[in-house]
Amino acid sequence: MPLYAWVCHSCHATNPAGSEACGACGCPAVASVADIEEAKTGVIQPPRLSRKQWQAQRRTEIATLPFWKKPVAYALQAMRVVGAVFVLSGIFDLSIRAGLFGFGIILVAELLFSLLKGRPYFWEGN
Ligand SMILES: [Zn+2]
Repeated sequence: MPLYAWVCHSCHATNPAGSEACGACGCPAVASVADIEEAKTGVIQPPRLSRKQWQAQRRTEIATLPFWKKPVAYALQAMRVVGAVFVLSGIFDLSIRAGLFGFGIILVAELLFSLLKGRPYFWEGN
């Protein structure tokens, strides 16, 4: 619990030292992104997805895309795999450059995929 007065991450209300949660909206003093979303929207955020759940969700996301977007979505999935191969080869060869290159590929693939979906998660809430 904070020993100083703090400003709520979610609603920006000022809270006295020692309070565990925001007096105005109930957001915890040390808030995760999920906590902030919960306090803002009142919707309980799902727990972090396991890899299997993530893959299932991604399949669903691709399935709901318009027909013409699907080839692009699959291409981006393939791009992620290529990126992962680079990351792994970077780990095995202890090559930082290959690892970073792989992460870069994955990042770009994720970015393009979220653009494809039409609601980029990293722009929300700003
Ligand atoms: Zn608050």
